[in-house]
Amino acid sequence: MSVPKIDFNDLRSAIRDVPDFPKQGIVFKDITTLLLDTDKFHAALEAMADRIRTISFDAIAAIEARGFIFGAALARQLNKSLVLIRKPGKLPAATFREIYELEYGTDSVEMHRDALTPGSRVLIVDDLLATGGTALAACRLIEQAQSDVAAVLFLIELQFLDGRNILKGYDVISMISYDAE
Ligand code: AMP
Repeated sequence: MSVPKIDFNDLRSAIRDVPDFPKQGIVFKDITTLLLDTDKFHAALEAMADRIRTISFDAIAAIEARGFIFGAALARQLNKSLVLIRKPGKLPAATFREIYELEYGTDSVEMHRDALTPGSRVLIVDDLLATGGTALAACRLIEQAQSDVAAVLFLIELQFLDGRNILKGYDVISMISYDAE
């Protein structure tokens, strides 16, 4: 399959800004428009795969829900197993759980207790890094399973929310970065 050379401005233009979603004042980065464009979607996956090719890891852990799209495609392309990090109450077998703070209240993520062999090196994947709370909870789930985070990979980073800071100590990789809303 031939994939055109990656133009990051082109990728950026395929991501739609939706103001005031899911609430007033948030500009939502909508990747559904990128997914509709086969060339750009494939180029985004190719860029992500290229960037992690030199990192040694055993499994990809993808964060619900949009992380599943990129995580599954990369797991297929790089021949890695795929672990699902899900919202509470969705996984059927015994789970580890991490609770994390939101602006108002808390949320949590879960992973099956038997998803990883202890000592695994895991690449975490999500579509977007905002404040970093979700990704940090994902890192802690991997560590609860006695495994190591090899890197945390995002298609998009909202730099102005400083998620990297909360993820200090982890290798944080993003393909497209926005420094202002
Ligand atoms: P955070 O925990 O603040 O880093 O939020 C990350 C999660 O929320 C990711 O799974 C994103 O898909 C989603 N998210 C947060 N902010 C946005 C935004 N402005 N546009 C799209 N998705 C977002």
